[in-house]
This record gives sequence, C-alpha cells and structure tokens, in this order.
Amino acid sequence: MKTFSIAIHGGAGTLVKGMMTPELEAQYKSALQSALNEGYKLLDHGKSAIEAVEEAVKLLENSHLFNAGKGSVFTATETHEMDASIMDGKTLNAGGVSLITGIKNPVSLARDVMEKSEHVFLAGDGAMQFAKELNYKLEDASYFYDEFRHKQWLEIKDTDSFQLDHSTKKDSKFGTVGAVACDKDGNIAAATSTGGMTNKKWGRVGDSPMIGAGNYANNKTCAISCTGSGEFFIKGVVAYDVACLMEHKGMSVEDASNEVINKRILDIGGDGGLIAVDAKGNIAMPFNTEGMYRGQKSSNGVNEVAIYG
Ligand code: ASP
Repeated sequence: MKTFSIAIHGGAGTLVKGMMTPELEAQYKSALQSALNEGYKLLDHGKSAIEAVEEAVKLLENSHLFNAGKGSVFTATETHEMDASIMDGKTLNAGGVSLITGIKNPVSLARDVMEKSEHVFLAGDGAMQFAKELNYKLEDASYFYDEFRHKQWLEIKDTDSFQLDHSTKKDSKFGTVGAVACDKDGNIAAATSTGGMTNKKWGRVGDSPMIGAGNYANNKTCAISCTGSGEFFIKGVVAYDVACLMEHKGMSVEDASNEVINKRILDIGGDGGLIAVDAKGNIAMPFNTEGMYRGQKSSNGVNEVAIYG
C-alpha cells in the first residue's frame, strides 16, 4: 500500500527561555498531537488530503495557543484580522481569504472560496459578505480574546512597531498554523491560517493566504505550508520556490525545502520555516529559527511532535 502522511505546524520561533514552562510545553504538544491524530485518522479512513488538512488546521484554529482563529493576535485597532488559504494538489484548485473578522475557522471559508465561488482570493468586506451569504455564524470579540495576546499588544500599541511574534524578541513567537498531507491515492494538499502580526495596520496581509508564497500544492511536486516573516516569504515566493526546485532541478522535497529555508530565505533576510510533503508521502520540516511547533504522522510508523531544534 502507498504511504500516506500528514505534517502540521503551529508556527516557527518559540517562547523565549524562562517563559516556556513544562506545563505549557505539554499543552502545546498535546494540542499538536490531537490535530495530527484527527488529520491522520481521516487519511486512514480513505478521506482526501484536502479533508485532512482542513480538519487539522481547524483544530489548531480552535486552540488559544496558536496565532490563528481563536488565538489570533491583536491589530493596531485592537481587533483581529485573519488570513487563510488552502490548495488541492490534484486539481490546482485553491482558495484564500484575508482581513476577515469574527469567523471561527478561516480555513473553512478559504475552502468555500475554492469550492463555492468562481474565484481564488477574497478579501475584507467582500470576503465577509461571501461568508454571510453562506450563513457563517460570527463570533463576537470575546471569543478571540486572550490575555497573553492582549498583553503583547498593550506593550507596543502606541508605537509604530509591529511584532512578528519572533523568538529573538522578548516574550514572543510566530504562531501561524498549517498542515500538509498526502492521501492514500497519492493526492496532496496544503492549508495555512494566521492572525498575522501583533499591532499590524493598514490592511497588512502576510504570506499565509497567498498561493505560492505561504501555501502551495501540486501533485507533480509538493504541498507546502510556511510560517515566518511574511514580507520576506512573499518576496521569496517561498512555497512555489520549493516546488520549482523540485520540478526544474529534480531535487527531493527534503533538499528543496532545506535549500529555501536554510539558504535562499536567509540570503534575503527572512526567517521562519515550512512543512512539506510530496506525492509519495515523504515529509520535510526545516526551520531556521530556534524552534518550530510541529508534528508528523505517517503510515510508515512515524509519529512525533516537537518544538525545539
Ligand atoms: N507568516 C505570517 C505572517 O507574516 C506570520 C507567522 O508565520 O507567524 O502573517
């Protein structure tokens, strides 16, 4: 039987030492393991890679621990603006949403854009109108309130700085979530969801909802979900770059992912990581930060979650 597998991430960069307690570490690992198990279970039952990545990302969005859905960071105006995307490697169908508010599971709205509209990318008020027409229930602000995120925001709210939730900075980390999977038919898919950066303004959008930058899937090469300094991941067209190295240079998913994360993105000043899977179920999870919340589970017996390098 063909190998089927799933990998997930909860963001690159980690809490600085001293802030990560054994209890918190256990909570992160348990949230990662549950999302991994649910996604894997769907694959095991013969469901598609798209079903598996949507389900895994939904579970991570429902946890306050990660910067996506429920745990999204605060914008400069003390609101939450979320971005998400999903792509099917078999058909190249894709959906993305950005600058949405009040939606519990942005990844599901991205999937609806892919399947129920003629478009690929909907943003802001228009995306919210689309959600309304599909009868999405809106959560109020209290659903997204998290004391830790609020504190992060209070510290920089009246400044021009925005925080990329990063390990080199005080008390912060990336927290974007994502999943990639290869199903029993050898079809692959990727999904990514984020609250973006603390104190972001002017309708700032990162790489996460952008097909080719933060998320990409093509059965011919790989499925990718990125996390890191979004502006650099957009400039480096990171997810597609990995696919291109595989397609045009014949590199393996492992070598191509490493080349992009440990060389190309560093060369232009970006940092972060990605998760990748090819249509044979091989997984790569490189990062150039101190850690990346991550996990992988495969029909060949691998089952692990990890945080640090
Ligand atoms: N890449 C995301 C963004 O720039 C941030 C992250 O990965 O945490 O919006």
